[in-house]
Amino acid sequence: MEGGKLIIFSAPSGSGKTTIVRHLLKQEDLNLAFSVSATSRPARGKEKQGEHYYFISVSEFKKHIKNDDFLEWEEVYRDNFYGTLKTEVERLWAQGKNVIFDIDVVGGLRIKKKFPNETLAVFVKPPSVDELKIRLKKRSTESEDKINMRIAKASVELATAPQFDEVIKNYDLDTALAEAHALVKKFISIPTQKPKN
Ligand code: 5GP
Repeated sequence: MEGGKLIIFSAPSGSGKTTIVRHLLKQEDLNLAFSVSATSRPARGKEKQGEHYYFISVSEFKKHIKNDDFLEWEEVYRDNFYGTLKTEVERLWAQGKNVIFDIDVVGGLRIKKKFPNETLAVFVKPPSVDELKIRLKKRSTESEDKINMRIAKASVELATAPQFDEVIKNYDLDTALAEAHALVKKFISIPTQKPKN
């Protein structure tokens, strides 16, 4: 597999990474396209098939695992599988795009490991776990149980921040958006270093 750059935004849910990723996708100078992940979780709210996710069944997901179709995959929550299909990145690279990912920290670091020179891995830090709770409740698309599950995971995820290339503190959204844009712009302007044989 080869092509453009890979830009990863990982963070606990509720940190605002999706808002940042959506903002960056609108910036034409970055030439980004969104990597649509496959998931076995049901669609929420206004989410659309093939746009936010490829919504598939647990058994279809497991078939893809068996066929080695994923660049990375993760059982993020019990029976809620998420993964990046190799064909998705190949499709976007073939269009001459840099690919941007909104994925969990484990998946993000896996992609970084597979493509160390092509990847910029950015961690988005929320102001605090309490603030995360407030944001997730405001979103109110999920049950209290699901929200608590996400919060428990957030503490573990926060500890992985030092493994990322960059950490953006999302305390003020406009500042975070400007910082994200500048980081991505700088990274895509650097030619990819080919490993020496
Ligand atoms: P949500 O259910 O809120 O859409 O996503 C839950 C978590 O799964 C988020 O942290 C999201 O970034 C992550 N996620 C989404 N797609 C992928 C993927 O392809 N791989 C991995 N490892 N995580 C993903």
